[in-house]
Amino acid sequence: MPPTGREALRSRVQELQEKNPVMIFSKSYCPYCDRVKELFTSLGKEYFALELDLCDDGNSIQEVLYEMTGQKTVPNVFVYKSHIGGCDKTLLAHQNGSLQKLLDSNTVSYDYDLIVIGGGSGGLACSKEASSLGKKVMVLDFVVPTPIGTTWGLGGTCVNVGCIPKKLMHQAAVLGQALKDSRKFGWEYEEQVNHNWETMRENIQNYIGSLNWGYRVALRDKNVRYENAYGEFVGPHKIKATNKRGKESFFTAEKFIIATGERPRYLDVPGDKEFCITSDDLFSLSYCPGKTLVVGASYVALECAGFLAGIGLDVTVMVRSIFLRGFDQEMAEKAGAYMETHGVKFIKKFVPTSVEQLEAGTPGRLKVVAKSTEGDIVIEDEYNTVLVAVGRDSCTRNIGLEKIGVKINESNGKIPVNDEEQTSVPHVYAIGDILDGKLELTPVAIQAGRLLARRLYGGSDAKCDYVNVPTTVFTPMEYGCCGYSEEKAIEIFGEETLEIYHTLFWPLEWTVPSRDNNTCFAKVICNKIDFDRVIGFHVLGPNAGEITQGFAAAMKCGLTKEKLDETIGIHPTCAEIFTTMEVTKSSGGDITQKGC
Ligand code: FAD
Ligand code: NAP
Repeated sequence: MPPTGREALRSRVQELQEKNPVMIFSKSYCPYCDRVKELFTSLGKEYFALELDLCDDGNSIQEVLYEMTGQKTVPNVFVYKSHIGGCDKTLLAHQNGSLQKLLDSNTVSYDYDLIVIGGGSGGLACSKEASSLGKKVMVLDFVVPTPIGTTWGLGGTCVNVGCIPKKLMHQAAVLGQALKDSRKFGWEYEEQVNHNWETMRENIQNYIGSLNWGYRVALRDKNVRYENAYGEFVGPHKIKATNKRGKESFFTAEKFIIATGERPRYLDVPGDKEFCITSDDLFSLSYCPGKTLVVGASYVALECAGFLAGIGLDVTVMVRSIFLRGFDQEMAEKAGAYMETHGVKFIKKFVPTSVEQLEAGTPGRLKVVAKSTEGDIVIEDEYNTVLVAVGRDSCTRNIGLEKIGVKINESNGKIPVNDEEQTSVPHVYAIGDILDGKLELTPVAIQAGRLLARRLYGGSDAKCDYVNVPTTVFTPMEYGCCGYSEEKAIEIFGEETLEIYHTLFWPLEWTVPSRDNNTCFAKVICNKIDFDRVIGFHVLGPNAGEITQGFAAAMKCGLTKEKLDETIGIHPTCAEIFTTMEVTKSSGGDITQKGC
């Protein structure tokens, strides 16, 4: 029978002492507790502090501690399960050297100071930084092949199957549009212009190959040991590394960082894993995908659909509910509308129920059956390729976390961490896409990884700031944003507190080809009761990513509408629109651009 009541609390207290070399039972407001924490920090010793005033059963734990140690007060300090006492006794033990002796006597020697599992954006940044700070570091990276056997080199999602190939294929599409515009600017060419998938793929893959090589060299230069092996915890400080030939090796470390990222989710309908591809396969596909169905309506789906259509393919997107969930819906709708006018077809409120192969080939022919999310209507159509982009699953379920007690959020597989990226097991940290409730973006993973290494080994206390992180969706017309969506701002601050400035605009470069007027859009959301501070920045237009980056820096500095108005624009650019925005949404004023 599991222990109950008092007995259960006693086992919990014992477990905390066993799990944590330095265990401090503390209260968050207690200055004596702060002093002992500062002492261990100054000794470079990690501690775990349980703040009894913040626990529901804190009083009962304090009573159990009294029964166990005869000490009523906090801090109540244990080192390697030995009871040290309160603040005075801990400071005394430090002065007379007995504390250090105890710490030293139990110092176990490990193979590495730090092992990082996952050599993607976050893992590489963190491991190189830790090594630069003098630590002995190992990084493990292993790519489990996709169901159709695609695999890739060192560097993780961004470099191999994410940001880099995606942006380069987006560029291929942007160039296609530029070609169309160029005739109006005097370029004359006789021949039919075609796009060659194989050439694009090969050149992009060659570039990625050079990046993979660069990462290996950088790890070697920084003295980080790299193992192309799958890491899995087999003990609190021990991992098993299995290479692609199945050879197992074991390594120990004082600390661990989990940076294993995510992999695409499948639909779980008949035929999906056999016949569909995901973004993990698309960028290195050896043949042109042909007529393509993209399933999903978020970042990955819309970006891939956008560039596939931009290079001339027949593309349909099957949308279950809305575009770009979580983003400003007015902007998302406009990004979708632009795609539609540029040839992307949308089947809204439908989900696939089966995928059947009609003919094998490169590409072959597939039959997709789908059903309405709103009724009994069933539709079917034929495609050469089905790209599933319905979200991503965290790689946290097969790495032995349960063996060492790292808690995950069972509903989504993500790892909850405190504001120092520490998991429920004090010597195990996590960064990047696998974090619960954080943004899944490369620069976020890199920043978190670097700052974590500096805090662990460089005496820094800088934490990753996950607020006002800018991002851009590289749909054919890019959508950049920073801060709150209109929906979220209204939910948090209330409509009456906000002033929203908006306008359509027409890039000068588009006037001569005479295309797409009144499709680009700018919006800033200001908080009236906080000096008209800009709390949401949104731009839909060419190079929105480049525009958004600078305004994100301004928002970090506390940008207000007044400061925007005081800023002198750069003419003629798209970004200058933000220095002259006058029409508020509440006024209902006309925002269309005249001309043409
Ligand atoms: P990853 O980069 O995924 O790295 C994790 C690594 O760990 C992988 O190499 C994985 O194979 C390895 N691994 C997993 N399990 C183990 C194990 N047990 N042992 C050893 N190795 C393991 N972000 C942007 O900022 N801008 C963009 O434009 C952008 N575009 C994207 C486009 C696509 C199609 C996708 C899918 C993502 C895009 N992202 C973009 C998101 C970005 O790629 C991720 O946020 C980023 O790569 C996360 O970094 P990470 O270190 O958490 O994980
Ligand atoms: P996502 O944001 O989780 O979106 C999943 C999409 O799939 C949603 O549109 C969802 O529709 C749909 N969907 C889910 N299950 C479905 C089903 N069974 N049938 C049909 N549709 C289904 O996933 P993502 O696009 O893969 O992006 C993952 C993360 O990668 C993002 O959060 C982002 O941070 C990062 N990323 C960044 C960039 C960039 O910076 N430019 C680019 C790509 C990815 P509902 O809305 O109905 O749920």
